[in-house]
Amino acid sequence: MTGGGILVVNAGSSSIKAAVFPLDGGDAAALTAQVDRIGADAGVTAKDAAGERLPLPPLPGGAGDSHETALAWLLPQLEALSGLRIGVAGHRVVHGGDRFGKPVPVDDATLDALRDLIPLARTHQPHNIAAIQAVRSLWPDMTQVACFDTAFHATIPEAARTLALPAEIRDKGVRRYGFHGQSYQWIANRLPEIDSTAAAGRTVVAHLGNGASLCGLVAGESRATTMGFTPLDGLVMGERPGLTDPGAILFLFEELGMSPEQVRQTLFKESGLKGLSGLSNDMRTLLASGDPAAKLAVEVYVRRIVREIGAMAAEIGGIDALVFTAGIGENAAPIRAAVVEGCAWLGCALDKAANETGGLCITEATKRPPAYVIPTNEEAVIAASCRKILNA
Ligand code: AMP
Repeated sequence: MTGGGILVVNAGSSSIKAAVFPLDGGDAAALTAQVDRIGADAGVTAKDAAGERLPLPPLPGGAGDSHETALAWLLPQLEALSGLRIGVAGHRVVHGGDRFGKPVPVDDATLDALRDLIPLARTHQPHNIAAIQAVRSLWPDMTQVACFDTAFHATIPEAARTLALPAEIRDKGVRRYGFHGQSYQWIANRLPEIDSTAAAGRTVVAHLGNGASLCGLVAGESRATTMGFTPLDGLVMGERPGLTDPGAILFLFEELGMSPEQVRQTLFKESGLKGLSGLSNDMRTLLASGDPAAKLAVEVYVRRIVREIGAMAAEIGGIDALVFTAGIGENAAPIRAAVVEGCAWLGCALDKAANETGGLCITEATKRPPAYVIPTNEEAVIAASCRKILNA
């Protein structure tokens, strides 16, 4: 082993995304790995820093049964491939509630608090906790750090995070939290070297991945975001509808007789681009399709983004820059073009060539506000939080 390493873990219901970073610094992962279909026919892949596939033996029998068995097998493989001895694990945890406004080391009290937050994020939080518990039981001495998707939004003003519901409901923690915090932190960290005016001023960041949201940054801090109490709110997403009249949800219960589980499934897995197109949640498929339903899905998707950018600009008092990031934001030039053109009223003027050839700035140099494409790096933010906590 050539040095110490940080294991960054993003655990889903049946997947673990892992990345290994050197302990002594750097934003580039030494390698990344992904275990899919945990519990049923699991498989694993790994890539080096350049994105080239690394040789890994197939998962042995039983190793894909649970998060714990998968991690028990994976960690020694990652150490051997990277040459780094893992000394700390940083976890992406979806919900920190009111309690966690920054990353924290995990101890018994933290784990209890994370469990208390499960009702706020039933779809994600239990899997994040399962990964933390797995690391704990496998390597009890390893320092673990919980990094919250919600924490970056602790700076949102009270009036922007308060939902207009009765006090007895709000008292149960029902408010806007916001998510994608590591991604916004990464962009806020990059902005000063890219555009000092925007970094000190007002920037709207569009994180457009399978999940999607906007964040209104003022001087690098979150002041507004489109996701709400859950990651269902705001933009149209791969499988989630975003902003939807609550009356439509009542209709599902009262008139269609759907159960809470059916409604949950519809809202988390069957809506958004997938539900609109009846084809796919994958933007590449929709952009390549001639199907009218796919075309409508893309139009609804773009229209919502444009509308919400306007709302965000109003909330933060104007816009000095627009930033695109995540899978669609970084790669889907036609979507960026349509969004920038929809924001012409804000002054945005697309530079078509820069947009199509992967430029950092995709708007005309003489016009403001500029729009940038900045690749996100959520794992690097978690690795940096681990280093900070170890050195504290
Ligand atoms: P993420 O969740 O950040 O990995 O983003 C996933 C989304 O990015 C999916 O909808 C993909 O279809 C989309 N995506 C990735 N690459 C491209 C591309 N070259 N063109 C259009 N969409 C893309």
